[in-house]
Amino acid sequence: MEAIGVSKVFGNGDDAVRALDNVDVTIRENEFFTLLGPSGCGKTTLLRLIAGFDFPTEGEIRLYGEDIAPLPPFKRPVNTVFQNYALFPHMTVAQNIGFGLEMLGKPKAEIDARISEMLKLVRMEELRNRRTSQISGGQQQRVALARALAPRPKVLLLDEPLSALDFKLRKDMQIELKRLQHETGITFIFVTHDQEEALTMSDRIAVMSKGHILQIGSPRDIYDRPAERFVANFIGDTNFLEGQVKEVHGSKARIALNAGAEVEAGISEGANPQGNVTIVVRPEHAAIQARPGADALKGTIENIVYFGTDTHFHIKLASGPHFIVRQQNRHGAGEEFKTGMPVGVEIGQNAAQVLKD
Ligand code: ATP
Repeated sequence: MEAIGVSKVFGNGDDAVRALDNVDVTIRENEFFTLLGPSGCGKTTLLRLIAGFDFPTEGEIRLYGEDIAPLPPFKRPVNTVFQNYALFPHMTVAQNIGFGLEMLGKPKAEIDARISEMLKLVRMEELRNRRTSQISGGQQQRVALARALAPRPKVLLLDEPLSALDFKLRKDMQIELKRLQHETGITFIFVTHDQEEALTMSDRIAVMSKGHILQIGSPRDIYDRPAERFVANFIGDTNFLEGQVKEVHGSKARIALNAGAEVEAGISEGANPQGNVTIVVRPEHAAIQARPGADALKGTIENIVYFGTDTHFHIKLASGPHFIVRQQNRHGAGEEFKTGMPVGVEIGQNAAQVLKD
């Protein structure tokens, strides 16, 4: 599934909104692919173009190399699970699941067999004859998934399908969705604005902002090697430091930080390190030191936030910027640190990345 040079403009003249601007993306077969970005960045618009509910202003959506523009939604081998599930409340679970197959005019025996198969897949066999108005939110979610999967689509589009669920159920359904994708071998295109959800579920993630795709990569690529400030910031806590490039060798650059130390930094996709650069360091890739080593950045603890599994130390560096260090709470580690203490921050090996912008 490919989008090639896809733009979508709503309205015209002064009121025109460019919801997508020249988007290129190739989504592989049998992939759990996530569109991640803040509200209004164009995620739903891209899904709607793939589903055929709307048309691109420019560009093409292709499936197996063919432009699918001439195909109306019901003729595309694509199905959608909506945020609000859009189930028929007066119908039973089984009737909901079989609905799409009936519309396609499939024989009753085939529909019944497929309903049973789908009920088993989503582990809802015992609720087969219950009306969907009489089942829980999590169960409705499973029925919506079963209904969308029943006609064997090649691609399943999921628009924030877990956002209506409470925290615990949401976590369970994340694992469930991953299992369903794996067992069915269908390409899932999943939309979310929740970075943790994207990191834990996806094979690859496209990070979107203002109608553009900024970076596409595995969760590890996106988290460890963000290309741009926006991507780094959107995915988890981040430290930014400024510095000057001293030398570049292969995929590494040696940076003299304005904060006073030198680091060896990886070079993010598209970055061309020279002169002044920004580097990014994740809070767990740095260590706090009671007695600063020679390579450490010097600072003072401003705040300590305890999270049970780990502790966040908010440090004001002597050179000005703030820096967060996250440390695991193993065997009471870190208990000696108090607010106001002078400390060192050591940036770990391979921890820093030079950003594109
Ligand atoms: P959310 O997470 O809030 O659903 P999103 O990333 O899915 O956001 P879209 O719904 O794709 O964002 O919207 C992208 C932009 O296009 C927004 O600025 C939105 O206001 C605008 N937009 C979407 N649909 C229409 C429409 N039918 N008419 C006019 N503008 C629209």
